[in-house]
Amino acid sequence: MKTRVGIGYDVHRLIEGRPLVLGGVRIEHSKGLDGHSDADVVLHALCDALFGALGESDIGQFFPNTDPRWKGAPSTVFLEEAARHVSMHQAVLVNVDITIIAEEPKVNPHVADMKACLGQCLQLHSKQLSIKATTNERIGFIGRGEGIAAMAVVSLEVPDTNLCE
Ligand code: MG
Repeated sequence: MKTRVGIGYDVHRLIEGRPLVLGGVRIEHSKGLDGHSDADVVLHALCDALFGALGESDIGQFFPNTDPRWKGAPSTVFLEEAARHVSMHQAVLVNVDITIIAEEPKVNPHVADMKACLGQCLQLHSKQLSIKATTNERIGFIGRGEGIAAMAVVSLEVPDTNLCE
């Protein structure tokens, strides 16, 4: 087996009149993330990390934001598709590490629910999965509460004959 890593980053604008969904969890807040789908930056960053580790393209290639099928779609649909690609390559996920950057709301009270959602989608034990949160110290657009960002890193193992020739 060969070890591979992938990285993903996403950001969406926070606006009024949208539900806030982060890490597959609906969170009560005065604003939500704007986007074509549910705009879940955590799952979008994670999908990109998974596709990256597999040497594939980004989430926008698989789920274009011009396609009406994905309007309002829960991003768990995208994550399940990314997980299917992992299986297709006979890859085994080793671990997932995520950082959410948000000035508000407080993310930590929801981390356990997010881990349960991601663990179910990816068939991962909670110890293979880390979700951390930080603020942007009130600096820049995240610091002003104009958006929320997420970064994800994944490690997986693939058989020597797949992806590693
Ligand atoms: Mg996105």
